[in-house]
Amino acid sequence: DVGQAAGGLGGGERGLTGGGSAQRHDGVHRGVGVQRGLDLGARKAHIRFMDKLELSEDEWRARLSPVQYHVLREAGTERAFSGSLNLEKREGEFHCGGCGTLLFRSTDKYDSGSGWPSFTEPVSADAITEYRDTSHGMVRIEVRCAKCDGHLGHVFPDGPGENGLRYCINSVSLDFQPD
Ligand code: FE
Repeated sequence: DVGQAAGGLGGGERGLTGGGSAQRHDGVHRGVGVQRGLDLGARKAHIRFMDKLELSEDEWRARLSPVQYHVLREAGTERAFSGSLNLEKREGEFHCGGCGTLLFRSTDKYDSGSGWPSFTEPVSADAITEYRDTSHGMVRIEVRCAKCDGHLGHVFPDGPGENGLRYCINSVSLDFQPD
């Protein structure tokens, strides 16, 4: 069971190395809206003046809970409807569970029915990086934190907003801070 995202920093528990199919891909696609219609042309990311947080695997394991490590560092996925933030409706900010960077706001959160926290857009295009992901027999766009490279989820072109995007994000990748 994949439940709680909160407060895992400094946990230091070890163990869950789980069948992590951490797929890392080179095809990079940047910017809110550019992937409408799943235009997957490979482009290099331009991380503008973003100080990257780079830690060793041991440091990440010490910093994250086993479940956080599996999702953020091994591109795992929490079970649908299992995450603590799927039904979160309070106003507030959603920060990266790995490094604390502000990534999403409650004003852009909506109930997609997918079973994962869903957003129409991140706080800024620079907050995230997007990668072409061909794992599990699908072509998807993976979303990661631009600062720590932590896996967040995927973005799909079936969102309800103006840009038509649905950012489908794991609860355990996020640290919710209510207003
Ligand atoms: Fe991060």
